[in-house]
Formats: sequence, C-alpha cells, structure tokens
Amino acid sequence: MTPGTERDPGEPVIGAAQLRLLERLCLACAVSGDEGEVRKIVLEHVRPHADEVKVDALGNVLAVKTGQGDHNLKVMLAAHMDEIGFMLVSDEEDGFFRFDNVGGIDVRQLPGKPVWIGKEHVYGVIGAKPIHLTTEDERNHNITLDSLRIDIGPGNSSVKVGDRATFATPFSRLGPSLRAKALDNRLGVATLIELLQHAPPNIDLYAAFTVQEEVGLRGAQVAAYTMNPDVAIVLDSTPANDLPSWDGLENTRYNTRLGAGPAIYVADSATLSDPRLVRFLMETAESAALPYQIRQPGGGGTDAGAIHKQRTGIPSVSVSVPGRYAHTAASITRLADWKNTLALVYTALCRISPELLAPER
Ligand SMILES: [Zn+2]
Repeated sequence: MTPGTERDPGEPVIGAAQLRLLERLCLACAVSGDEGEVRKIVLEHVRPHADEVKVDALGNVLAVKTGQGDHNLKVMLAAHMDEIGFMLVSDEEDGFFRFDNVGGIDVRQLPGKPVWIGKEHVYGVIGAKPIHLTTEDERNHNITLDSLRIDIGPGNSSVKVGDRATFATPFSRLGPSLRAKALDNRLGVATLIELLQHAPPNIDLYAAFTVQEEVGLRGAQVAAYTMNPDVAIVLDSTPANDLPSWDGLENTRYNTRLGAGPAIYVADSATLSDPRLVRFLMETAESAALPYQIRQPGGGGTDAGAIHKQRTGIPSVSVSVPGRYAHTAASITRLADWKNTLALVYTALCRISPELLAPER
C-alpha cells in the first residue's frame, strides 16, 4: 500500500504471533533429508487455510489455495524447509561420533561449537583441543573434517548413526534485528505460511514447502513437476556481505545489505531470473513505496534453479530476506527486511495477471 492509502484488510502483517512462529521454526531441527520437525509445524499452519494439502514421496508439503476466477494464473511459491547441518555417520563409542556435513559448511567454523542432535535435541559438542595442548603448527593450519568428532559424553546412548545435528543456537531479538540459526530459510517458510493464509483471490496459489534444497534443490525439482505452474516465485534468505571494511577501504563487494529491503534476484549461479518478473517486482515495489535491492549476481542459488527447468520451462524469480553469516551457527537479519519482503510479495500477488507473461512485454 502506498503511504496515505488504506491498508488492504486482507494484507498479512508480521506481529508477535508471526515472530513466535519464526522462533519455533528456527528452533526446530530440519537438516536436509530429515525435515519432519519443520514439516509438522508447516502442516499445522497451512491445513486450516488450504483447499488441498499433501506430503509427497520426498517430504515436500504441497498446498493449494484456489482463487475465485476461472482462468487464474497458477502461481507457485516455494520455500525450502531444510537447513544445513551434520549427520552422524559412525559410532566410535564412549560418546564420540564421526560426522559428515550436510550442505555447504566451512569446516574452519566447527571446532568448539555446541550442537543439538536428533529428534530429542540431545546436547553435544564438536570437540576442540584446548589451546593449552595445541602446538603453534596446529594453530596455523586448518582442521580437517576427518579429525573432528561430535562428543555427547560417555555412557550416553540417546543418539544413533543417521541422526542429524544442528548448531545449538537460541533465537534472540536484538532491537530491530533477529539472531538465530536456520534463518535460511525459516524466514521464507514463515513468509510462505503467511501468504497462504492471506492468498489473494485473483490467483491460484501453489505453495511448495520443499526439502533438500541445501544439497541440490532436490525437493523443488519434483514439487515443480507435480504443480506445473505458470510462474514461480522462490522465497529464501540470501547472504549479506555488508560489514564495514576494517582496513580503511570501502566495502564494495556486498551482494546485499541489511536494512535495504527485499533482495530481488537477476541472476545467481543456477538461474537467470525471468526479466518480466524482475521488472514486475521492481515496479510493484516502486508503486507501493516499498524498499528493494537487487541481489548482486554471483555464487549461491535457490530452488528457482530447479523449478525454471521443469517440464516445458517455468518463468521464475527469487526474492530473499538478506542475512549476515549464512550457513554458520548464527545469522543476523533485520525485522524490517522481513516485513518488506512479505509486503512486496503479497502486493505482487494481488497485481499479477496472465498478461505479465505475454512475450512482448
Ligand atoms: Zn536457503
């Protein structure tokens, strides 16, 4: 809504209830391939609002909310439920487990980090050698994944090989910011829940809460096949590399910045966004006086990388909430960016029509 105009009564807003939902989603553990904990929360929130909900063979939640017209645009909105983390791969007894990374994780960050393991969130730690016992040579060299173990203490039989583990990070509000694990992509999941609950009547909304994005966009590939939409918008969180440069030079290598609004993708390593959709989102933001930024092209990707190549091709674009320190123990994001992302996508859905896809636009 433009300033001074009445707020759309159907418009979703982010208040205390939505923050509580995001907290619950971030504290849930859903490492790729084992997304059950987040799926349960999603089902609880979408079942009362959707016309059709199913869980497919890979574990994607596919929900449909049909609009009021006969020839509505079929709009797929996708948000991945999974997060990066670890999988226990070998029990070495006395509470030690060899583990593997699931998704993109920098091994240098792991030693000494507390973790939650399995469905019961059993406490463990990725053991690190105390500084008293390390040599200078050890301190100057990177630790390999092979040399690390998750330690749950001897005599503790509450976890098993195959269990997933995540960083053990509480959820906290820091004034205008939020700090949590798995903001990538519980922000997208929480946004999609709100959009489904407030779906505008001019479209048929196909909501895909996908699995296994962090290991290669696998859930989105089959979700898009099933849904076969006219168009897709992917909701995710993207790294903000906007820290000050402490060597006195200006940081010009940011790809997104906190506080600058939703990040619209023109290109990433897996997708060239449909230019009609990019333009449409920019025009929508400008007409509704909402801030936005263009995510700078480069590494990383979203579920759009799999969706746009499905069937005979699906015009796709991604919109992300920027967050610092993605794929680490704790990320920081701005509440205002989340609110503006929800507002931008909702406003876009209210305005979208089949003419948008006319080839000459
Ligand atoms: Zn993500």
